[in-house]
Amino acid sequence: MVIGTAGDVSTGVVDELKGIAAVCKAFNLWFHIDGAYGAPAAIMPDLKNIFQGITEADSIALDPHKWLYSPLEAGCTLVKDPKHLTDTYSTHPDYYNFDAQDEEQVQNYYEYGFQNSRGFRALKVWLALQQVGRTGYIEMIGQDIELAKLLFALANAHPELEGITQSLSITTFRYVPVDLSTDAVTREAYLNKLNKDLLDELQAGGEVFLSNAIVHEKYCLRVCIVNFRTSEKDIDEMVDIIVTRGRDMDKRLRQ
Ligand SMILES: *Cc1c(COP(=O)(O)O)cnc(C)c1O
Repeated sequence: MVIGTAGDVSTGVVDELKGIAAVCKAFNLWFHIDGAYGAPAAIMPDLKNIFQGITEADSIALDPHKWLYSPLEAGCTLVKDPKHLTDTYSTHPDYYNFDAQDEEQVQNYYEYGFQNSRGFRALKVWLALQQVGRTGYIEMIGQDIELAKLLFALANAHPELEGITQSLSITTFRYVPVDLSTDAVTREAYLNKLNKDLLDELQAGGEVFLSNAIVHEKYCLRVCIVNFRTSEKDIDEMVDIIVTRGRDMDKRLRQ
């Protein structure tokens, strides 16, 4: 088995799926994609290129509670050939009487996975698919990506912020004081401490909630936008809050 990632947790980067698919084909290996976060973005017309090869996966993990906007939680595995699931999981113990003629058409989900008794999680996912539709998802996912790009642009335009990565709807960046003049090693160590402490304070503060990512040993603030209510105003305000809190934190740490 080879596992490719379509939407890395930290940065949103998509592996070269087409290349992995070719390797799997050549060596007769199962090709699984972790698309827990990023797979829904494959419907974006302008992202066709980076998702090339996704259709060749044998299985894809996908979390509708992430970028399909379902309420927590709804995890899902898509399998190209459902027969693999029934071959693996289907059992017919004596105490299950599903042999009656009129039951023949029924799809018994216990034959497709570990779970026997199971809640109807699929309902909320199905309802959203019906209500939002492909065009609705393209619109909402597109907006999330635009907001993440806006944040990256604002970070790079701001003298005290540094954009680090931008991919799908994830942006990583950090607070960098303007007058920091030490050697490179000391500087990076200080920036890591500063941004870690800043993130802890932001998370505890209750105004904004960001997460973290470590990119090439740089401790970054990480924003992953998967909420259709997030607006440009939120992004603008967040930048102000981070810069204000960043200045404070820097002052305290340098004392
Ligand atoms: C969220 C995520 C996971 C974990 O999924 P859970 O449903 O929270 O267990 C795995 N891989 C990626 C890429 C993710 O974004």
